[in-house]
Amino acid sequence: MAYVICEPCIGVKDKSCQEVCPVNCIVEGEDQLYIDPSLCIDCSLCVGVCPVSAIYFQEDVPDQWKSYIDKNANFFANK
Ligand code: SF4
Ligand code: SF4
Repeated sequence: MAYVICEPCIGVKDKSCQEVCPVNCIVEGEDQLYIDPSLCIDCSLCVGVCPVSAIYFQEDVPDQWKSYIDKNANFFANK
C-alpha cells in the first residue's frame, strides 16, 4: 500500500509534499509529482501539506482518480 498523487497536482506542482516526505519517495514528473509505492512508508505527512488535496491513501482514492494508482506505480516501473 502507498499514498497516491491524483489529478489536482497537475498544473500546481508546488512541491510542498516533497519537502516533508521523510523517505524522499516523491519525484517530479512532467505533468505532476509521483509517489514511489515501493518506498512510501504511509506516514501521511504529505497529505496535510498539499494545498489542493491531491494525495490519498491508495484504498481511499476517489473513483474518478483510480487510474492514478497505476500512473504513479508505472512512473517508477518504467525508469
Ligand atoms: S505518506 Fe509519507 S512516505 Fe509516503 S509519500 Fe507521503 S510523506 Fe512520503
Ligand atoms: S503538495 Fe500537492 S500539489 Fe504540491 S506537488 Fe505535492 S501533490 Fe502536487
